[in-house]
Amino acid sequence: MAIECLVLGAGQEVGKSCVVVSIGGKRIMFDCGMHMGYLDHRRYPDFSLISETGDFNSALTCIIITHFHLDHVGALPYFTEVRGYQGPIFMTYPTKAMAPLMLEDYRKVMVERRGEEEQFSHDHIVDCMKKVTTLDLKQTVQVDKDLQIRAYYAGHVLGAAMIYAKVGDTAMVYTGDYNMTPDRHLGAAQIDRLQLDLLITESTYATTIRDSKYAREREFLKAVHKCISGGGKVLIPTFALGRAQELCILLDDYWERMNLKIPIYFSAGLTIQANKYYKMLIGWTSQKIKDTYAIRNTFDFKHVCPFDRSLINASGPCVLFATPGMISGGFSLEVFKQWAPSEKNLVTLPGYCVAGTIGHKLMSGKPTRIDIDKDTHIDVRCQIHQLSFSPHTDAKGIMDLVEFLSPKHVILVHGEKPKMATLKGRIQSELGIQCNDPANNETVLIPTTQNVKINATKMFMRSCSHADFHSVKNSLPCLSDSSFGDSEASNLVRNEKVVEGILVMEKTKTAKIVCEDEFLQTLHVEEHKVQFEYSCPAEKCREQVSCQSNSGPPPSDGNFSETC
Ligand SMILES: [Zn+2]
Repeated sequence: MAIECLVLGAGQEVGKSCVVVSIGGKRIMFDCGMHMGYLDHRRYPDFSLISETGDFNSALTCIIITHFHLDHVGALPYFTEVRGYQGPIFMTYPTKAMAPLMLEDYRKVMVERRGEEEQFSHDHIVDCMKKVTTLDLKQTVQVDKDLQIRAYYAGHVLGAAMIYAKVGDTAMVYTGDYNMTPDRHLGAAQIDRLQLDLLITESTYATTIRDSKYAREREFLKAVHKCISGGGKVLIPTFALGRAQELCILLDDYWERMNLKIPIYFSAGLTIQANKYYKMLIGWTSQKIKDTYAIRNTFDFKHVCPFDRSLINASGPCVLFATPGMISGGFSLEVFKQWAPSEKNLVTLPGYCVAGTIGHKLMSGKPTRIDIDKDTHIDVRCQIHQLSFSPHTDAKGIMDLVEFLSPKHVILVHGEKPKMATLKGRIQSELGIQCNDPANNETVLIPTTQNVKINATKMFMRSCSHADFHSVKNSLPCLSDSSFGDSEASNLVRNEKVVEGILVMEKTKTAKIVCEDEFLQTLHVEEHKVQFEYSCPAEKCREQVSCQSNSGPPPSDGNFSETC
C-alpha cells in the first residue's frame, strides 16, 4: 500500500494551500485555500484533478481545514456551494468562528469595492459553515470506521491545528502553518511523539534562522516611535486576525509604558469584532494571557480605537492597522496611496508577502514608483520597515519538528522553490529521511510498510524453535554474551535459520502460517498422489545411453503414462 499525495496548491510556492492525500482507501483534502496574488483561475486549486466528472462527494472522504487564513480556507465556500462538495468538513472551533469573518471581508473587498465578479456570496459562506464539524485539541475523531483524525495545537494563529490522520497501520501528519516558539498571545506548537509514515510540513522560512524575539520587537517599536515623533503616520497592513492582535498587544503595552497619547486605530469594524472572539477564546491563547485573565483581558486594548475614513487626510501623527496585509487591495491600498508619497510616514510590512502583491514589490528593493494600473501610479517616498517577526516557524523549528517526529518520509509545501530545495537537502543528509518538494498538480507516491497479523500453528512454532547450532574452533568476539559463559559453549555458533511454511489467507479469517505436513488438513482435503512412469523401447534407450550422458532430456518419441 502507498500513500498518494496530490499537491493542488502551495507546491513550491506560498498560497492556496490544498493537498489531497489518499491513505488506505480514504481520500482527505487538507486545506482549501485561495491564492491572494492572482485574480484569474489560478486563484483556486484545480479541483478537476480530484474528479474529472465533478463528483467530489465520492472522490473525497473529508476536508480538514487547519486555520482561518485565506490561503488555507479561502476556496472552501466556492468548493462546497459552487462546485458541489457536500461531504464532511472539520476544523477547530476558533477556526469555524473566525473563517467566516475573513471570507466575508475578502468578498466585500473584491466584489463591493473592486467590482470583481462574485465567486461566492454571503449566503454561500453561511451555508458552507453550517456543514462544518468542530474539532477539539487532542481529541480523536472517528471520521468513519477506518479513518481517525486528531488535532494538535500549532501556535501560528488562534485555533490553528496540526492534523494527525490514521488508517489501519498507516499514519501521517499535515502541519498547516505552525510556530515552534511562543509569541505574546499564542503558545508554541505541541504534538505527541507519533509513529508516522509521512509528515507534510510548511516551509515558509526554510532557510531563515531568526534572532531573539525581543530584539525584533525592539526594532519595530523603535521604528514606530521615531516616525510618530517626527509627526509621521504609521500604516500597518495586516490580516484582520492574527498579527493584528499580536502587534496590538505589543503597541498597547508600549504606549502604556511610555505614556504616549498618539492614537492607534483599527481600520474596520471587522477587527473590533475579531477582538471579541479573541476575548472569548482565551483558552486557546498563551499561558501568560490565560494567567493574567482574572486581572485583565489582554484583548481589552486601552489605546486602540476605530478609524473613520475621514481621518485619512487629517493632520498629525497616528498608527493605523488596515486590512488586507501585503497591500493586495482594499483599505490598506487606499491608505497607502495617500500616505506613501510623504517621507515622514512609515509602512510596516509583514514578514512574508505573496508574489504579485504591492507588499512583495516594496520588499524586493525599495521602488520609488509603483504602477497600480496604467492610469494609477504611486510615488513611494515613505520609509518601509519589514517586520521580522512572523507566526511561522523558522528553519531550526522545522528541523526540530522533523527530528522529533522522525517520520519515514517528509513532503515540503508552502515555501519558495530554491529555499525548499536547500531544506530538503538538509532533511535528507542530516536526518537521513526521504524528502520531496513537489510542484503544484504533482503527485508523490510514498511507499508504506503494512503490518499483517498472522497466527502460526503449534507444529510450525515447534519447527522454528529447534536451535541450529554447530561448533567452530575459533571463538568469535560477538559471543561474549553471558548465556555462552563457559568455554565449551563459546565455541557454538547459531546459524541464521530459514524456516519454511505455507501462508494460508482465507476471507474473513486471520491469516495463518502452517507446516507443509498440516497444509492439506487445514484445507480439509484428502491427499491426492500423482505418479509418473516413463517407458521407451529398449533398443532406443541403449542408443541414447551410448551417445549422451544419462541425465539428458527424455527422447522425443517417448511416452508418459499416469497412474493414480
Ligand atoms: Zn497561516
